Amino acid sequence: MRLAAQIFLGFSVVIGISITDSYVNYNLSEKVNKNTEYVARSETIIRNSSRLHRSIIEMQSAFRGYLLTSDTTFLGAYFEGSEIMPQLFNEQRVLLRNSPSQLKRLDKIAALHQSWIGYSDQLINAKRGVATNPSVYQDLFENKLRKQVGKKINDQISLIFKDLDKSEYRVRAVRRDALNQSVERTRRFSLIFLLLTVVIGIVSTLYIVRLITKRIASMVNLADNISKGEFAIVKDDKNDELTSLSISLNSMSETLNKNIKELEKRNKELNQFAYVVSHDLKAPIRGIYNVTQWIEEDLGGEVSPQMRKYLNIIPDRIKRMEDLIHGLLDYARISREKPLKERVDVDKLVRDIAELIVPENFEVQTMNLPVLSTEKIRLEQVFSNLMSNAVKYSKPEQNGKISISCIELDDFYQFSIADNGIGIEPQFHSKIFEIFQTLREKHAKESTGIGLAIVKKIIDDQHCTINVHSELGEGSVFTFTWPKF
Ligand code: ADP
Repeated sequence: MRLAAQIFLGFSVVIGISITDSYVNYNLSEKVNKNTEYVARSETIIRNSSRLHRSIIEMQSAFRGYLLTSDTTFLGAYFEGSEIMPQLFNEQRVLLRNSPSQLKRLDKIAALHQSWIGYSDQLINAKRGVATNPSVYQDLFENKLRKQVGKKINDQISLIFKDLDKSEYRVRAVRRDALNQSVERTRRFSLIFLLLTVVIGIVSTLYIVRLITKRIASMVNLADNISKGEFAIVKDDKNDELTSLSISLNSMSETLNKNIKELEKRNKELNQFAYVVSHDLKAPIRGIYNVTQWIEEDLGGEVSPQMRKYLNIIPDRIKRMEDLIHGLLDYARISREKPLKERVDVDKLVRDIAELIVPENFEVQTMNLPVLSTEKIRLEQVFSNLMSNAVKYSKPEQNGKISISCIELDDFYQFSIADNGIGIEPQFHSKIFEIFQTLREKHAKESTGIGLAIVKKIIDDQHCTINVHSELGEGSVFTFTWPKF
């Protein structure tokens, strides 16, 4: 799957969970609202019921007060009660509309209360007319009041109120439980969704980060290897955006590998050519030298001074030609032969070379030269060429001085060979490392322009570097690196 699709999928899952969470929470909060509403309604029913009951009791007290004291102020409370009573019943009826059993109880109370009103109205009216018609009141008193008709009605009303309240308390308790449960469920679901979002978010992020960094690391590794000359490839079968990058890197690595191999082949052929040509040139040159000797021997004293001068030039030129051919052979040999590594005490090596090629009037200083395991012949060639140059290009008017020192780096030793010779103009600093490039007069003795080319080739083969710091007349410092292992 493509990387963008995987990232999109990860985000979609997280967003999907968040949407589901919001939807579930919305539904649960609707339930919480509904249950809260139910509980509130139950509480209003209970409150209304007690208000209704209290009003009925207040009417009964007012009625009794009037009968006992004949004080008409009691009737005020009685009539007030009977006036608001229908409204209270109606309010309660609306609240109980969804509960038939409770509604039945309420209707029963209303009916009983209505019959009590009939009874109480009769007695109040009789009491009012007691002066004109005392027998009516007496009759009612004896047949109804004394027989506790009203009290029985009120006792029944109280009992039904008790039932109504009890039932409503039960309903309220059930609704409260439901409310608590829905609040608890909302909390639980929110927590579960939060954990799911966090876990899936972290897991998908870690997965993608791991997927990307691991593969980028292997590509960086490949690029590192390419820079070291190891042309491997990365395996990547994920078929996404990074796969295109690894395919490009692999093809770059393959092309470089092919080109380097081709280059190595050409280099080998060139070396072979230089070796064969210089080797084959040796015999005819020797032949020319022999012929000049024979001419000289045959002509003897007949040779004119001018002719002798010319004949004397020939051996010099032949010597120079031989030097060039030997230099070329040495140059070609560098890559043809791979010397074995051996333990080398560089200080001793340098002192041995100095003994052979540095004149006695020169001062040779060595500093911090290491002991290492390396291709001794190659290191020896480098030091010999650099030291012999320091001798060749010294100032004739002063005593020569050559200092050889070393600094240890991470993977390399860095050697420096400094002299107090004639120095080199900065514009020739890179030219002197090219083959046959000499800053001396072309035919100068011992100057073939091959020494530094050999040094450079050896150092290139070691994957190291060489450079020179110098000014004309100020001496020169040649600095090169050499592998530690
Ligand atoms: P050659 O010494 O045979 O000319 P090299 O390749 O060894 O060839 O040197 C190339 C040129 O670099 C020399 O001709 C010389 O001019 C210059 N050179 C090399 N080493 C030094 C040195 N230590 N001081 C001054 N010039 C130098």
